[in-house]
Amino acid sequence: MAQSKYLLVLDFDQTIVHSDTYTKVAEMVSPAALQCLKEVLEQQGWPVYMRNVFAVLKDQGVSVDEIKAMVQDLPLTDKMLELLVFLREHPNIFDVIILSDANTCFIEWVLSKHGRSDTVRKVFANPARLANLTVQLEDYHHQMVCPTCPVNMCKRIVLKTFLEENRKYTACVLVGDGVPDLCPALLLSKDDLLLARKGYPLELAAVTCNNLAAQVVLWTNGQEIVHVLQRLQLHQ
Ligand SMILES: [Mg+2]
Ligand SMILES: [Zn+2]
Repeated sequence: MAQSKYLLVLDFDQTIVHSDTYTKVAEMVSPAALQCLKEVLEQQGWPVYMRNVFAVLKDQGVSVDEIKAMVQDLPLTDKMLELLVFLREHPNIFDVIILSDANTCFIEWVLSKHGRSDTVRKVFANPARLANLTVQLEDYHHQMVCPTCPVNMCKRIVLKTFLEENRKYTACVLVGDGVPDLCPALLLSKDDLLLARKGYPLELAAVTCNNLAAQVVLWTNGQEIVHVLQRLQLHQ
């Protein structure tokens, strides 16, 4: 009988990379132009804001290659490469997906820079492609079901669909740092784990949430996540 597997769900910004990629890319815009865009962010949210940021960068003569180089130079979170190497070594035990409100281009750029594209089974993020000398960004979906998440991405809806379409996992481990990572965690059962980055907003959101069944474990670096996964393997 085939060994049943664990599902590892990874957030991207402030989890795999030690920064918010959209904020870093927006900082490439001249300060005066960025000031004008602030209102767009407040009133229309991240996807519209980033479409404006990419348009302004193109106007300012910043090439896609320069954006790519900047994103690829962002440091990974401490010892996150160790986690990705560990996962690559255990493909029969862990299925890895990325669930992120960033975009597919940024995530693929970072994974390929570190030689880890083959570690991840599927990336769920806002679709992006390169065209007309810029990054063309689409929304992942348009949801009106979940009032707490942005309309372009509710991670709970995405994870629910994935779990319905895929084999039954022994347990699910969800790793994140931000409040939007709590919504998909509400799908988890008591045998699953929510790994919340210590000192980041998800920690407080998780420990004060009344309807979270999953066990909450705090993490500060990728090696600690490896240790959590090794303990799961031992109990299998
Ligand atoms: Mg995050
Ligand atoms: Zn949601």
